Amino acid sequence: MKKYALVAFGLLAACGRPAVATDHIKSNIYRDAPIEPVFIHADFVAYYASFEEKLGISPDSVSIDYVVQEDPVVGLCYGYTDRVNNIEIDPNFWNKASENERENLIFHELGHCLLLLEHDDKMMDNNGISVPESIMYPAIFGGEEYYEGLKSHYYEQLMNAQ
Ligand SMILES: [Zn+2]
Repeated sequence: MKKYALVAFGLLAACGRPAVATDHIKSNIYRDAPIEPVFIHADFVAYYASFEEKLGISPDSVSIDYVVQEDPVVGLCYGYTDRVNNIEIDPNFWNKASENERENLIFHELGHCLLLLEHDDKMMDNNGISVPESIMYPAIFGGEEYYEGLKSHYYEQLMNAQ
């Protein structure tokens, strides 16, 4: 089983750097066809639909539900070879997150659980500001001002990263 943790952006803001998860997984994961029912909590249906609309890929093979996480983790993807991959979303983070932070979190976890992507901590220049190049950056940055304007880039990057 592979486990990915995602932490909230800004928790280490005191030193001016984003919080970074410590669970970088380097090995590839492989998933067989789902052999059990997929459970998608109603709160996330709209985000799954948005993912399919934006990227043209259906995430309906990945289960997702609320599970309280240990701070500072806000989301997790469990990847399996013998059962449905599943995403856990921390309800405490979700309830206070903005729309863009929620999208960032769901798309990131689907990057792991559906597209089987690893973390990517590369940065790129955006009008003189260094910003994450990928939504697979190991922290949430959807609350940052630049996210809205770079959404198309992040969708495209996610598709091309497969
Ligand atoms: Zn992650």
